[in-house]
Amino acid sequence: MSDLKRNLIGGEWVAGTRVSENRNPSTPDDLIGLYARGGAAEAEAAVAAAGAAAPGWAAVSPQVRADVLRRAGDMILTQNEALGRLLAREEGKTLAEARGEALRAAQLFHFYAGEALRHPGEKLNSIRDGVEVDVMREPLGVVGLITPWNFPIAIPAWKTAPALAAGNAVILKPADLTPGCAHALAEILAAAGCPAGVFNLVMGRGSEIGAALVDHPDVAAISFTGSERVGRGIAAGCAATMKKVQLEMGGKNPMVVLADADLDLAVNVCLNGAFFSTGQRCTASSRLIVEAGIHDAFVEKLAAAAAALRVGDPLEPDTQMGPVVSEGQLSGNLEYVRLAAEEGCEVLGGQRLNRSGSFQTPALFLGATNAMRVSREEIFGPCASVIRVADFDEALAVANDTAFGLSSGICTGSLKHATAFRRRSKAGMVMVNLPTAGVDYHVPFGGRGASSLGGREQGRMAMDFYTSVKTAYTFAG
Ligand code: NAD
Repeated sequence: MSDLKRNLIGGEWVAGTRVSENRNPSTPDDLIGLYARGGAAEAEAAVAAAGAAAPGWAAVSPQVRADVLRRAGDMILTQNEALGRLLAREEGKTLAEARGEALRAAQLFHFYAGEALRHPGEKLNSIRDGVEVDVMREPLGVVGLITPWNFPIAIPAWKTAPALAAGNAVILKPADLTPGCAHALAEILAAAGCPAGVFNLVMGRGSEIGAALVDHPDVAAISFTGSERVGRGIAAGCAATMKKVQLEMGGKNPMVVLADADLDLAVNVCLNGAFFSTGQRCTASSRLIVEAGIHDAFVEKLAAAAAALRVGDPLEPDTQMGPVVSEGQLSGNLEYVRLAAEEGCEVLGGQRLNRSGSFQTPALFLGATNAMRVSREEIFGPCASVIRVADFDEALAVANDTAFGLSSGICTGSLKHATAFRRRSKAGMVMVNLPTAGVDYHVPFGGRGASSLGGREQGRMAMDFYTSVKTAYTFAG
């Protein structure tokens, strides 16, 4: 199987014992490639390789680390079109969204190339005469990165780049559904001069490889993005082995629309937040909380805009919403559509398309309450509850009434209400007149409650997670 895409372990491209087919959810006949499936043995080998490479990588000049990261960013930019097409084929984002995600990965590598040189520290006077204090940051050693399918190149990039910049060796375990982008990233890092063992890729099942990394005593930290259910298990596993852990998980993100909002702006913000990227964003707006005075006009316009979205093959230039990532995910979404009707909502859209591939139309659940399961559980598809409220106070209370706390938003023309919402929203990210999804890469990303645990990702704060603080006292005599 010469065209088998292999794992990267200790600088060698290694076949696993099994092989996975990577198929296009738009066109199931389109076989993107055959990918090696590793297991516990490959995870063990990757930990050993990373452990051997980590001290050397920690000791090199930060210029060497910066150069590798910058070259990787340059190569992602050069390959943007090919990476975008691969991403659209394996995950289903539209080509424009996929190109944008690949661009984001390049921007992240370039940003952390700079951070490798800005490795922070502090020098302070001691409270004792003649003593100096240095607060230093050191790499952790071997770090395991476990990533989901919905941003198959950006999330591996936003974990790998700061981890390498800080001087750690890395093992990336990408989602089973989307190994292609992670494999392409591994090829790029190898070509960019990342030394053998510093970046390792092990593809395959989370229950085998992910669990092996979580349980391994030589892995110092795990950074995970994925579902709350898996995240809880990883947190428990990391507690058992006393590992540093960072979890980014699900959301049930509220978007409040007040009666004084610009109606067209609010409709565009909600259309984007709920349905772009097929709603498969942890920051997607899945609860649209609408003040009574604008409710009917807003619903009429949003329903028309949602029904007009062109759903189809992401490689077609006029497609606005691609497929659901897999048949399994689609049947889960359709089950929630059925549940919404059972719970008493008027359901608009949410039908499977009568063609091959995992396609559905966007779904709105009108007349929803915040107590319904469709308003409390993460669906992770193009489905949004519309919840009518009397005023701002009720809107804020409903927005905050969730176990999650990733992103929240408000559409309003009122400075008073925008300011009050920014202050009182219980979410890690708050948007005013902007969709709940769509963030910058140079500022912190993360949430509260069941959405996040551990330090923030992205921006300079990401370096906190990937380093350990050492406080050194020196008496010079
Ligand atoms: P998932 O939890 O099923 O899988 C995520 C990763 O964990 C995959 O690589 C998987 O193989 C691995 N895994 C599965 N079982 C494991 C185990 N027992 N031990 C270790 N690893 C294991 O999530 P998914 O379906 O790939 O992604 C969708 C989820 O990701 C949604 O809940 C979404 O909200 C979340 N997400 C969150 C963010 C964020 O930053 N908060 C961003 C993107 C996606």
